[in-house]
Amino acid sequence: MTRYVIIGTGVSAIAAAEAIRLADSQGELSIVGDDPFIYYSRPGLAYYLTGELPEKWLFPYQKDDYQKLRAKIFTASVHRILPAEKTILLDNAVRLPYDRLLIATGAQALPLKIPGADLNGVYKLDHLTDARALLSNAKRGRNALVTGGGITALELAEGLAARGVNVQYILRSERYWPNVLDESESRIIERRLHHDGIQIHHKSEIAEIFGKNGRVSGAHLTDGRQLRADFLAYAIGITPRISLAQQAGITCERGIVVDEFMQTSQPDIFAAGDVAQVYDPASGKHTLNSLWTPAREQGYAAGRSMSGGKQPYLKPVAFNVTRLAGLTTTIIGTVGGGSDPDLLGIARGDSETWRQVPDAILAQDGFEVNHMRLMLGEKHIVGAIVMGDQKLSSALQAIVRDKIDISPIHSALLTPNARIADILAGFWSGNRVN
Ligand SMILES: Cc1cc2nc3c(=O)[nH]c(=O)nc-3n(C[C@H](O)[C@H](O)[C@H](O)COP(=O)(O)OP(=O)(O)OC[C@H]3O[C@@H](n4cnc5c(N)ncnc54)[C@H](O)[C@@H]3O)c2cc1C
Repeated sequence: MTRYVIIGTGVSAIAAAEAIRLADSQGELSIVGDDPFIYYSRPGLAYYLTGELPEKWLFPYQKDDYQKLRAKIFTASVHRILPAEKTILLDNAVRLPYDRLLIATGAQALPLKIPGADLNGVYKLDHLTDARALLSNAKRGRNALVTGGGITALELAEGLAARGVNVQYILRSERYWPNVLDESESRIIERRLHHDGIQIHHKSEIAEIFGKNGRVSGAHLTDGRQLRADFLAYAIGITPRISLAQQAGITCERGIVVDEFMQTSQPDIFAAGDVAQVYDPASGKHTLNSLWTPAREQGYAAGRSMSGGKQPYLKPVAFNVTRLAGLTTTIIGTVGGGSDPDLLGIARGDSETWRQVPDAILAQDGFEVNHMRLMLGEKHIVGAIVMGDQKLSSALQAIVRDKIDISPIHSALLTPNARIADILAGFWSGNRVN
């Protein structure tokens, strides 16, 4: 009987467990995670903060779903992997032997390294416990500072504002998320934040957080200004949790390097999800993602490999549907470039693939709530951003993913003031008929 052990209880871990159970009903399955809430939607935490989603809706699994896995679930932290003994060591001194091991430890928020960051009232957003702690502070009329970039910082600012908190958003850069969004898209988001009462401070940086009796009461900015606040939330990027793998001598770069079967450099040890650095055929490099669906697909692929299947995971075109300042936004393929001073490395809900500056030209259409940007190669669309009206987003995903030849509409898309959404819709309906 094969002994399968999974470290982590996030979406990649659970998907791996499902795949293992499908292939091997007899094997012994153990799942070890340090989160007392086991498995829940991390993207859903944003909607939980705004109050749109009650806490119970965050949980995709009910009691009987866990029972179907027939897994032994340990709530503990894994302390060491001992590959020579094929055993893991838990912090409560329990030793678990394995025949196949999956590391699905995810990624964690990078710490804010400024004086005062250890005061009470400084928050990140990794876990449900973080969201609960934030909500216990988010009372109408209180004052909060938010700093950082990408989707999570925005979600923090919006979530707190929705609870009646006065939010000041400190941005190092001159506009929001500059390595993924273009100038007009950043401004659309910022105008909407402003409308929601969020005050943005561009080209600003927190130098020091100060407090009273061990609790935050404000911050000094590097330009000398002082802002008062009851608490502070930050999202300055994430880092894959690779220390267990490193200690075990497994090859790591920024994440754990895996092949197309999610196998690490050590026999019988696999990795999946935010912790894994996965081969990306589009760039020819191993890249990081922090996206729910790829984490689930990678976990499933790992579980299949662990239980004897031989079907490779082929990293698809990066795709995310999210909500930025209340505007549904789809990001597909390669859309941006450069760096973002508000983020160190990758952010949540982010893919490095979006930032390989493409050899592409731009077609752009729309205003405020319905905006579309296409990155055009010679014959293909290599990336797209769709804000607001999402009628064309799945068509665009297929066009980018399947490298559909768009030569017939290439020059029309580049005509000044072209109605690119109409051109694309016409092309897509013709394409589906043919
Ligand atoms: C606030 C937020 C917003 C997001 N928004 C989006 C979005 O809009 N779109 C999108 O696609 N994705 C989004 N994401 C990212 C998405 O949630 C992740 O890509 C996904 O959850 C990764 O799953 P995972 O299984 O790899 O890791 P995780 O879900 O991070 O699970 C890893 C688990 O392993 C546990 N663990 C770590 N080390 C140990 C150890 N030594 N011992 C025991 N347990 C351990 C951790 O505590 C954690 O529970 C968001 C994430 C957050 C937090």
